[in-house]
Amino acid sequence: MRAFVVLAIGLALGSTAALAQPKSAGTPDPSLVEDLVAANRVLVELGVLDGFGHVSVRHDKDASRYLMSRSMAPALVKADDILEFDLDNAAVDAKGQAVFLERFIHGEIYKARPDVKAVVHSHSPSVIPFGVSKTRLKTIYHMSSFLGVDVPVFEIRDVAGPASDLLVRNAGLGADLAKVLSDNTVALMRGHGSVTVGTSIPQVVFRAYYTEMNARLQSEAMRLGEVTYLTAEEAAAAAKTNDGQVMRPWELWKRKAMKPE
Ligand code: MN
Repeated sequence: MRAFVVLAIGLALGSTAALAQPKSAGTPDPSLVEDLVAANRVLVELGVLDGFGHVSVRHDKDASRYLMSRSMAPALVKADDILEFDLDNAAVDAKGQAVFLERFIHGEIYKARPDVKAVVHSHSPSVIPFGVSKTRLKTIYHMSSFLGVDVPVFEIRDVAGPASDLLVRNAGLGADLAKVLSDNTVALMRGHGSVTVGTSIPQVVFRAYYTEMNARLQSEAMRLGEVTYLTAEEAAAAAKTNDGQVMRPWELWKRKAMKPE
């Protein structure tokens, strides 16, 4: 009934805005929203996000929808701030609030990667040098084994030209980034940050944190001299083991981050 009224008003005003607004997939599982709120805060506490960056999760009732906060500092996100988006990155109901300019990162990755259920985009600092230098981010220890052997770098200049603001501000750039990510877990974004994907919120938080740790430790190890990295086989074996362990740190991180102030 409500949808009909909105449609009727839209037609009466000759506006396409009401027609373009996607239909909701329904109320998501409250525990998924709770974990998404927690992930925002945890990622700030772990130094992955600061006033910027975002985390999203695919809707549990419809694979063509995802959930993400409105445009705001992640540490302040509450359940009321979570919005639903379609894979073209249109908000189902933004309630008149601003949405993230770089939401295209999320929708385009969900489109390209049906296996992905959660996405983090951050500017986490230790990773930045590996996006701007000739030194590749490579897997240095078992905790970051999900990286595989090394991590692709998205050069936005290749697709946006020499004068872009480096932001993934439209669907085309989002699709270009998803192409560079390919079937990897992480892609660096030159002069900007990185994107991390996973099959759950606990896993994507784990991966975003240990990507930052890998970068920090690799920079330190390289100062000492020649570095021995994991082989592809070691990385695959360790990643399999760790996938069964992501709930251990998640429970700790979530409890600490959600403590009443
Ligand atoms: Mn960004």
